Amino acid sequence: MQFKLFKNNGLFYFFLAMFVLFSVTTLGSATQKVPIRFDDYHGYTGTATYIKEVAKAYPDITTLLEIGKSTMGRPIYVLVISNMKTGTTIDAHVTLRNMRKEGIKNVTPMNPYQGKPGFWLCGSTHGNEYTGTEVCLYCIDKLVSGYGSDEEITRVVDDQTFYICPVVNPDGLYNSLERGISQRQNSMEKDDDEDGKVNEDGPDDLNGDGHITQFRYKDPKGEYVIDEQDPRLMVRLRRDEKTEKELYSVIREDKDNDGDSKRGEDSESGIDLNRNFPEGWFKGTIAGGQGDYPTSAPETHAIAEFFTNHSNILMAQNYHTSGGFTYRPLGTAPDSEVHPKDVAVFDMIMGKKYLEIIGEEVPEAWQNPEKLAKLKAELEKASKNKYAKARGYELPRGWRVSYDEEKDEPYNYGMATDWMYLQLGIYALTTELWNPMNDIPGFPQYEGEDARINVQRALLKYQDEKYGGNLFLPWKKFHHPELGEGEIGGWIPKYSGNAFPGEPLINVCEKHWQFEKFRAGLQPQIVITEARAKAITESSANEANTTQKGDQVTIQKGKSKGKYKIVEVTATIENKGILATHVARGATLAGNREDIVWLIGDRDRIAYLQGSPFQKLGVIEGTQKIPGYTPRGAPPTEEPQRQRMMFFYPGFPMFQRGPSYGPTEVKQKGPKRAVKWLVAVEGDATLKVIVTSQKGGTAVKNLDIQ
Ligand SMILES: [Zn+2]
Repeated sequence: MQFKLFKNNGLFYFFLAMFVLFSVTTLGSATQKVPIRFDDYHGYTGTATYIKEVAKAYPDITTLLEIGKSTMGRPIYVLVISNMKTGTTIDAHVTLRNMRKEGIKNVTPMNPYQGKPGFWLCGSTHGNEYTGTEVCLYCIDKLVSGYGSDEEITRVVDDQTFYICPVVNPDGLYNSLERGISQRQNSMEKDDDEDGKVNEDGPDDLNGDGHITQFRYKDPKGEYVIDEQDPRLMVRLRRDEKTEKELYSVIREDKDNDGDSKRGEDSESGIDLNRNFPEGWFKGTIAGGQGDYPTSAPETHAIAEFFTNHSNILMAQNYHTSGGFTYRPLGTAPDSEVHPKDVAVFDMIMGKKYLEIIGEEVPEAWQNPEKLAKLKAELEKASKNKYAKARGYELPRGWRVSYDEEKDEPYNYGMATDWMYLQLGIYALTTELWNPMNDIPGFPQYEGEDARINVQRALLKYQDEKYGGNLFLPWKKFHHPELGEGEIGGWIPKYSGNAFPGEPLINVCEKHWQFEKFRAGLQPQIVITEARAKAITESSANEANTTQKGDQVTIQKGKSKGKYKIVEVTATIENKGILATHVARGATLAGNREDIVWLIGDRDRIAYLQGSPFQKLGVIEGTQKIPGYTPRGAPPTEEPQRQRMMFFYPGFPMFQRGPSYGPTEVKQKGPKRAVKWLVAVEGDATLKVIVTSQKGGTAVKNLDIQ
């Protein structure tokens, strides 16, 4: 009775809202229950320890999942971050008509957090590209420690679900950092040199200093010379470049361990996980480390399975290193395969923000989308790139596709981002983190063909000043068992290629946290803004008479007594988020389902006269018009919902369905749907409206019949 009273009382909600608001604003500054520092890399072990501690310290907003194991048996973790006390999924409300016999388990119930828009973040798909692992940890820290004190963070953790997988490739990362052997691939056993033995000839720490660096030796056929400006650096000659200087060869610190006169040709390194995803998978003749079939790697398999079971993911980021730019889809196919609306979302919304954050120039067309037609006409003459001409702009350095538009050639195959976008309808990105010129304040800017060596020189100087020269090992004489006299030295592999720990790494982390927080702010959010159930019968309720002619039902009040009341239910469903509930290919994509609204009650005690138990809503648009995109065809109209009449028979069982009965389709466009049902309710059976959007969230409203 009390409960019902509250439900009817608007004041109660007002006080509840005030209380929540008050709590949020008075909790004070962020509380970091698990401290984290970024003055060195966490590696696999450090990452696992950290996320376990976070899961323990924040049980209300985190769940730690083990989604699979690597080849060497190391767990692959996903830390789920979301308010665990909120959220619901449709399977919690629809009871199965034919429950299976005891002992036979039904489908695993969904977790409440699967009923919120999902956001995937991952790092270290390539084991030696661990800057992304650090960015994942940084984002975890921001989300959990900002929850309850930062309004924006609190909102995204309440309304969304973050799936953060800091280490996709545990073995590659473990070997790269904890063993000091840089390893891009996983550790699937592979007989690289086809001698019947596996992993018998990897690199070696020849001088036993704990690092596998480089060996340089004088070699008339060598392609390197010592740098004039900084003799610690080796400069590779350009093709056909002549020199009077002494020539050198530079190899990884290594010897021949299996007597086949080759060095390091069969290491633990297995296959490339970012070539093993089931989209545009390799079908050529040259082996590229892609594996025997798509998802043949346990790590890729675990991710594919996870995505299949977590179909609420709309945003994804796959962090790699290095370069300081982002690949948006596609790499296996040209831009003509991406829907123009998605091109606009990627470039004009996400790309624009990304370039602003990394501090690079935003193309004119993205700043002024209204000039697109004019810019397109200009580019028609100026460019040879047909994809750029179709878009109206060239893609900038910082925001690109990996497909080679100049040569009209795919970049590669079996990549995560393409799979996520093309098959699952996810705004997936691959960001190559770390560009010293952007990420170290005051770092000199270089362009042109000498940029690479100039950056190396400046980095070397920077580590002399800020890190006491400890990131680079000075060259020391060494007698190589096969190559003779030479020197061992160079960048400690741990620090070459990834953001330097400390300030540079924190800069990288902060920028990408800002960018992903921005993207979280674009997610759709489906809410029921209004839902009412009104009894059409008189106040004594249990009176109604109906007559039926064809598929028309006539309800007359008070003529004779029945044990039911006729109830009209109306509901308004809105997407309060910026983006639509699906990418542009929407529900036509095999992995996607359109948004649905249910009216649920006791099946034996309610009958649907108008409107089916669930009605199909299509894809609900977001609140923002997409810049630079004009939909083809007629502009969207607010077409009223068409109702389907049902056959109606008085008596019990009172109602029978017409022969061609199917779900009602609500043909309305835009960010709003107004839906309606007419139901016959026996006695005081309860009703609720549930809207379920695969990626826009699930919301419930209980109805009091008025
Ligand atoms: Zn990579």
